[in-house]
Amino acid sequence: MKKHAIIPVFISHRGCPNDCVFCNQKKITARSGDVTTEDVRNTIEEHLSTISRMNLETVEIAFFGGSFTGIPMEEQQAFLAIAKEYKDAGKVDAIHLSTRPDYINREILDNLKAYSVDVIELGVQSLDDKVLELSGRGHNAAIVYESAALIKEYGFTLGIQLMIGLPGDSLESCIFSAEETVKIGPQIARLYPTVVIEDTALWQQYQDGTYTPLAEEEAVERTKAMYRILDDAGINIIRVGLKSSDIISDQPAFHPAFRQLVEGRIAREDLESQINDLYPGLDDLFDDRWKFCPLALFISNEKCYNNMFGHKGCNRDYFSSKYPRLNIRYRKDTDQGLSLRDNEYKVIDLGPAYLVDTDKI
Ligand code: SF4
Repeated sequence: MKKHAIIPVFISHRGCPNDCVFCNQKKITARSGDVTTEDVRNTIEEHLSTISRMNLETVEIAFFGGSFTGIPMEEQQAFLAIAKEYKDAGKVDAIHLSTRPDYINREILDNLKAYSVDVIELGVQSLDDKVLELSGRGHNAAIVYESAALIKEYGFTLGIQLMIGLPGDSLESCIFSAEETVKIGPQIARLYPTVVIEDTALWQQYQDGTYTPLAEEEAVERTKAMYRILDDAGINIIRVGLKSSDIISDQPAFHPAFRQLVEGRIAREDLESQINDLYPGLDDLFDDRWKFCPLALFISNEKCYNNMFGHKGCNRDYFSSKYPRLNIRYRKDTDQGLSLRDNEYKVIDLGPAYLVDTDKI
């Protein structure tokens, strides 16, 4: 299968005037130091030397760090000139960057166009003004709609990053942010559960007891709700989990397989809803001791096959303990002559198959 390769270039925002409660830019900057044009070139060269174009569909240079267009214009141009050089030479296919919604205007976008930038991701975090204010973002939701519209008008690929569990956040505000994101219509999205990093305002709030981080289960539930909304709208969710800056912090507070927890939960719910439709009153079928148990096929495409089992088989264990009278077999769509899209799950009833002693289950 053809894959995409990303060459990540971390550009910290020195002297960022904002005070996002979750951000520890001093720590990040201290570890990464000041990035020079030479560093950028070396990073690109190092990655290119290990990348074989044979099995790659695209190679992207991605400037991460949150606020690329907030750094001085001359520095943006110096970094972009290097990226463009590699793109013009056919060594990379796309230039990708992330920035804040309030660091977008026509002058900035004209410059990004001149340097052949392809993808702009906005660190939106939430579209709820209360959450934005409590998180110290320094802008409201209105600016997100304006900058996103401008980015689309220029023809860039638009990405939107949302966070789960910020101060003032709730399941409802998460759903609201996801629904508003669908209205904005980005091509790509990322979902990040909030991580409390030491030496941040959020860390202090946590110490004071004024902020309670989300428990993992609640983070999975909220992320799942947002994922469904974005996925149903055809938005490509390219990441679910920690931000690169969080990984630098050495403080991962959530499961490293967070995406699989979310996608596995979606698989479980969809499969269970079909079981309930296919086998209403399953237990009532077993009023005599010896009965034939129904055989059910759980089917997905190859990419989502592991989601049906869940992380470390948690879904398989869940179904076998909750539905002991159902014989479940897991299958890939192609084996059944089907073609299912990602995150689409199907249950097929094959009728009574096994004679069991119902006293023993
Ligand atoms: S997350 Fe907020 S405070 Fe941190 S660098 Fe980005 S804009 Fe600045």
